[in-house]
This record gives sequence, structure tokens and C-alpha cells, in this order.
Amino acid sequence: MGTTYFLQVYGCQMNFYEADLIRNILNATGFEEKNSPGAAEVLLIITCAVREHAEKRALGNFRQLLNLKKTGSARVIGILGCMAQRLQDTLINSFHADLVVGPDQYQRLPELINAAMNANRPQIAVELSDECYDRVHPVIQNRVSAYVTIMRGCSNFCSYCIVPHVRGKERSRPSEAILSEIDELTTQGVREIVLLGQNVLAYNYNEFDFCRLLAEIHKHPQIYRIRFITSHPRDLNERIVKTIATLPRICPQLHLPVQSGSDRILKLMNRGYTTEEYRNKVALLRKYLPEISLTTDVIVGFPTETEDDFCATLELMKSIRFDYAYMFKFSPRPGTPASLLTPTVPEDVIRERLLRLIEMQNQITRESNRAMLGKIYEILIEGKSPRGRGCMGRTPQGKVVVLDEPLPAGSLVNVKIVEVRGWTPKGEIVFSNASAPHSPEIRPNFSHQHAGG
Ligand code: SF4
Repeated sequence: MGTTYFLQVYGCQMNFYEADLIRNILNATGFEEKNSPGAAEVLLIITCAVREHAEKRALGNFRQLLNLKKTGSARVIGILGCMAQRLQDTLINSFHADLVVGPDQYQRLPELINAAMNANRPQIAVELSDECYDRVHPVIQNRVSAYVTIMRGCSNFCSYCIVPHVRGKERSRPSEAILSEIDELTTQGVREIVLLGQNVLAYNYNEFDFCRLLAEIHKHPQIYRIRFITSHPRDLNERIVKTIATLPRICPQLHLPVQSGSDRILKLMNRGYTTEEYRNKVALLRKYLPEISLTTDVIVGFPTETEDDFCATLELMKSIRFDYAYMFKFSPRPGTPASLLTPTVPEDVIRERLLRLIEMQNQITRESNRAMLGKIYEILIEGKSPRGRGCMGRTPQGKVVVLDEPLPAGSLVNVKIVEVRGWTPKGEIVFSNASAPHSPEIRPNFSHQHAGG
């Protein structure tokens, strides 16, 4: 039996994707994954560094694993990912990690783990490089939907963001590597691809741009749905919007982080657009894709944010009416320009503004879900419902819908929304092609049929 490992994942979709890459790298060299930390010789945590809160949570968990090392079978404990890249040898000197590995060094994991075990000395590998893991395909387990990274790093340097500092400069993965990974995923039952990158709209590999990449993936007969995250508003243009509108298997869903409704704050954030430009892009999207679901990110309490700046954010959110928003308190990240800006906004003011924003957005999200009542949507079933005996799936707009029927994952069904329980719409089947293998020819052209989301 090979060396056993346990892998705990925190953070964004990119971390979950990279966890599957790490599984491939380790399993291919004879390591064996265990589901419980108590049963493994190597304990690994892959973490995020974008917010202080996420780092604190991961470090708290790391301490618990450290106790297991004292009492259980674990011999090596390691931290991987963005926080490893940010804190580097502090994790060895102050937190007693045996292994610290940044996002561009996962290929060296087998060698580093063996060295940490055999030499009984901490190992660190945090050099940034052009690594794109072209030849490593993630291990996926019984999933209908899978992430595929198309870009790594970021060169935008938004003033509050740690990502360019811990993931290096923006680079696009070769298109052949992406298409071959998607090919392999379909042989394992994957029917929905979510393209990942910090700024996917800027994809460009040897003049092969994002629109061309979408068109190539769209030709794959086994792929029913294509989604992508994250899109930078500055890079969204009419050509991209038209491509989404003309290729029916590209889902009418876009995550377009606005971050603030104040032009002054957007400038301080170095976001590269004004609120007017942002609104114009939303209008363009809704012109070509009236049924599109829009989600966003907002930061509250960015240094110097006044009540007027915050009210501008409220007003923007109220007028655009996003289907969902991820709303965060500003989290100063050491080493970023925003962490040096003053005056900072008092904690109680930030909390109060955030609550006002959440309350308003929750109302809009509830109304957006309630607007689904009585409408028909095509659902791709992803698995069992978290509660009850039925199943759950998603609309093309990305909304989760639960059904009472226990349908197999991968089925495509048309459902009518008959109830909205709390946040979650419930559907009843009105037409099913679950028993027939899906083919694009028989697929109802949903994205241009229904006003949804
Ligand atoms: S676009 Fe801005 S917020 Fe997004 S990863 Fe790059 S620097 Fe960070």
C-alpha cells in the first residue's frame, strides 16, 4: 500500500479544481487518498488568502490537524495554495507546518512529501512560474458538472486583491490542453463544463481567443452546457455577448463583479471601469439575452467609503437587480495598496452598511426566485436532493431546483416551477428525455424559449 493522504479544501472554485489536480498527481505516484484525517499519514490543507477570515478559519483547522499529528497516524502536515504562497516560511516557523507548497509547485508534491517524511525536515516550494498543468487532468468522481481551468494568475492588480501577488501573472492554458481535458471528462459522464479563471474573458492563447474557445467547446456533442467564471466587466464586449447569445449551449448566466457603485471608489480599487460603463454592459447583455441571470460581488467599507459612496452602491444594486450577490466586508490584505489607504471605515459602520445591503439584495433575490413560479425550465439533474428522496438540478441560469422524483444525474428534464420553498424553487416534470441519451438535435433550445431567473 502507498503512503496515505487526507486533503481538506477551502476557498474558491479554483481551489476545488486544483484539489482534483493534486489527487491526480499523488494517485499517479502511488499515494492513496483517505476520507478521514485520522486514517492518513499525510494531512494536506489547500486554502485561500483572499480574505483574512478565510485564512483564520483554515489556520484554526490546521491547528486541529496538528493535534492529530501528535496523537495519530499522521507524519507530515502541509499547507498548499494561496495562503502557503503568501505566508511562506512563517507557516513553518510559527505554525510548525512540515510542508508549504504554492499554487505553481504541485507537480513536486510527491517528491516534497517523501523528503519531509524521510529527511524529517520541513519542505517549502513557493516559486511562481508559467505552470499551467497542461498534462495533468483532475480526478473527478461521479460528477455531471466539472470545472476546467482555462487561465491561471491575474495581471489586473485591483488595489485590494492578493491574487496577482500569490498566483502570478495572467496566462492562458493551451487550447489543445483544454479541449483534450474536456474530451476526457465527457468519457467520465461530465455533461456540463464550468470554465475557470480569474479573468476568463481575456483568454488568449496564440490568437485563439475566448469566443473561439467557446465555439470549439460548443461543437462537442457530449457537452450539454457551458458556463464560465469570473468575468471582468472591462473585458466584456459586444462580440462576446453575441457569441453567448448565438451558441445555445452556453448558459445565459454571468457573474460580473461590480464591487462598488461609486466611481470614486472604483477608481481607488483600480477596477478600470466606471458605473456608467458597467451599466451599459449590463444593458448590452439584457438586449441580446433578456433571460440572462446576473450575479455580482460587492465590497462594503473600502477605505474612505462615505455614506454617499455606499448609497451609490445601494442605488446601483437596486436598479440593476442582480439575481444574487456575494457581499463582503473589506478585508485588508498585507502587501496590497488598499491595505495602506486611510481613513478606514469603522467596523460598526461597515457592519451596519453590509446588513442594509444584504437585506435589500435578499429581497431582490427572493423576488427573482418567485418570478420563476409557473414558468418552464430545462433542468440538468446533478444528484440527490440534500433533503428528501428526490433530486436536484440547475436551470440554464444556474438556479438550483429540487424535484420529488429521484432522477439519475445527467438527465435533462423540463420542469414547471410549482413552489418556491424558502430560497429554493421546486419543480414538477412536464416533459422528460431522461431515458434517452441527450443529443443536441433533440435538446429543446431553452435559452431562447423562456424568460427565466
Ligand atoms: S481581476 Fe482584480 S479582483 Fe479579480 S483576481 Fe484579478 S486582481 Fe483580483
